Amino acid sequence: MSNLAERVAVVTGASRGIGRAIALELARRGAAVVVNYNASAEAAEQVVAAIQGAGGSALAVQADVSDLAQAEALIKAAQTQFGKVDILVNNAGMTRDGLLMSMKETDWDSVLDTNLKSAWSCCKAAVRGMIKQRSGRIVNITSVVGISGQAGQTNYSASKAGLIGFTKALAREVASRQITVNAVAPGFITTDMTASLSAELMAELNKRIPLARYGAPEDIAYAVAFLVSDEASYITGQVLTVDGGLIM
Ligand code: NAP
Repeated sequence: MSNLAERVAVVTGASRGIGRAIALELARRGAAVVVNYNASAEAAEQVVAAIQGAGGSALAVQADVSDLAQAEALIKAAQTQFGKVDILVNNAGMTRDGLLMSMKETDWDSVLDTNLKSAWSCCKAAVRGMIKQRSGRIVNITSVVGISGQAGQTNYSASKAGLIGFTKALAREVASRQITVNAVAPGFITTDMTASLSAELMAELNKRIPLARYGAPEDIAYAVAFLVSDEASYITGQVLTVDGGLIM
């Protein structure tokens, strides 16, 4: 297991689902973790309590990361509490599905702001400190639909494809300072986000997954933990797909 002792991690959207699993895994490997949330204060405090109960350090910070000023305040809170940010995981995300013909402008804007602009904002706030310390790890949680597309998700697919371009561009910008920027593209993972899918659709999707199961949030957390480890120091600008073989 990689050792993240002395590292400080910020995980956006860490109150539930994949972000929660990432926060717990990074803490288990020794990192102090800032558990960002937007609306789920109680759930975020439970993540903090679980980390502290296991002897780790954590802090819950409320911030709507779709807003630049709040994203900046989140990074500032991490720096104030723990002195620095070594690891940034841009995980916060949402869906507002619908066919293009019926999709409202607000459905487009909120998904793009929450899933894509948030990563730009958090990176903008965190990267200065990483450049000064000449080290850093950024992981953006994209999606297989950012690669393959998905009917009914023009907004979500565009935001996730945008994250992949963003990841590669930033990776090139900061590589000379030994900062790596990578993306993880989950397939179908069992969380609140996929809980609304009908049993019929779930069964249909399952047939398309070679490993014949939905992923668990921990499957994504292990991939992130690898990418932020010392062992992954020569990997940057990559998209690691974790999807049971779905889109290979
Ligand atoms: P989830 O269970 O719905 O959890 C979403 C998390 O994001 C929550 O912690 C939520 O916090 C937070 N969040 C949403 N909007 C936010 C905002 N404006 N500011 C701060 N936090 C915000 O989703 P999930 O399934 O874990 O997904 C996590 C990431 O993985 C997303 O980027 C998603 O697109 C991606 N992904 C998921 C799947 C999947 O199958 N589940 C597949 C591919 C990619 P609050 O509850 O506090 O608001």
